[in-house]
Amino acid sequence: MLDRRRFLRGSLLSSAALLLRKTSVAAPAELPLKSHPLVISTWEPNKKANAEAWKILGAGGSALDAVEAGVQVPEADPTDQSVGFGGLPDRDGKVTLDACIMNGNGDCGAVMFLEGIMHPIKVARLVMEKTPHVQLAGEGALQFALQNGFTVQNLLTPESEKAWKQWLLKADYDPMTIPKLLQQKNLKDGSGQQHNHDTIGMLALDAAGHLGGACTTSGMAYKLRGRIGDSPIIGAGLFVDNEVGAATSSGVGEEVVRICGSHTVVELMRHGRKPEAACREAVERIARKKGTAAKDIQVGFIAISNRGVIGAFALQKGFTYAVQSHDGVQVFEAKALFA
Ligand code: ASP
Repeated sequence: MLDRRRFLRGSLLSSAALLLRKTSVAAPAELPLKSHPLVISTWEPNKKANAEAWKILGAGGSALDAVEAGVQVPEADPTDQSVGFGGLPDRDGKVTLDACIMNGNGDCGAVMFLEGIMHPIKVARLVMEKTPHVQLAGEGALQFALQNGFTVQNLLTPESEKAWKQWLLKADYDPMTIPKLLQQKNLKDGSGQQHNHDTIGMLALDAAGHLGGACTTSGMAYKLRGRIGDSPIIGAGLFVDNEVGAATSSGVGEEVVRICGSHTVVELMRHGRKPEAACREAVERIARKKGTAAKDIQVGFIAISNRGVIGAFALQKGFTYAVQSHDGVQVFEAKALFA
């Protein structure tokens, strides 16, 4: 019988700190950017994704188009083992992808447990725009993608297959987020820097003042086949409302789902909290429910108000986020409950 606590255990306390690079600085209490557009993403390496989104935002394009384009950067990057192509597989060796997209009017689309499609975010947008539904899963999501011109590709890279085979030697049933894996395997690039990161959640505010968000992931490594995390669940991994703001998450998805995390953050903002305070309150809610076990998991939220104020908060240190606006590119480390 599965040990439920092990199932839910995510990144270790200190593991996320491995992701930090010297470019990140402590987050301000709030960052009132003078002008929009702007785009923010979970995890420092997603500066690259922000840059892609900025090509659209900076030219006056829509937040929705920007986030859809931006998150395709890690989806197509084979060295990113937590999103899209090259993502670490489930315990059966299959790469299964989750993604969702939402605009500030409440239009949204999601795909989950999707296999063989390089850009699940594009399929999620089509679900939003071409169907009366908001979520498609598994075979049905694949069928819909194929009907809309997508082709199946092998998303399991030799590196991720090797990592999975290594995991199979023990096959501990312990689904893991990327920071924990990195800590265990000490994966480094040539410069000695950690080069991987987790799920991308991206939020944008466009020149017209409209919000959009996207979230995409291969989920926890070596998860049970069929497992779906928070990332493709509207209200959990992502929530956007032009009346208030937007939020997205990274970390142990089960804990985010339990408190409808991103929706909670936006609702707290609706009731007057600034983005960082709202993220903090959601994190504290998770911590209260988990008790001492909260110290063994990582969850982080980022948020943006419809006036361009951003904020973030995490359970553990090491949760970075990247911001791009007319003010330039900035990387912050979110404040954390457990220092
Ligand atoms: N939230 C993602 C999931 O639970 C994983 C992550 O962000 O690391 O699938």
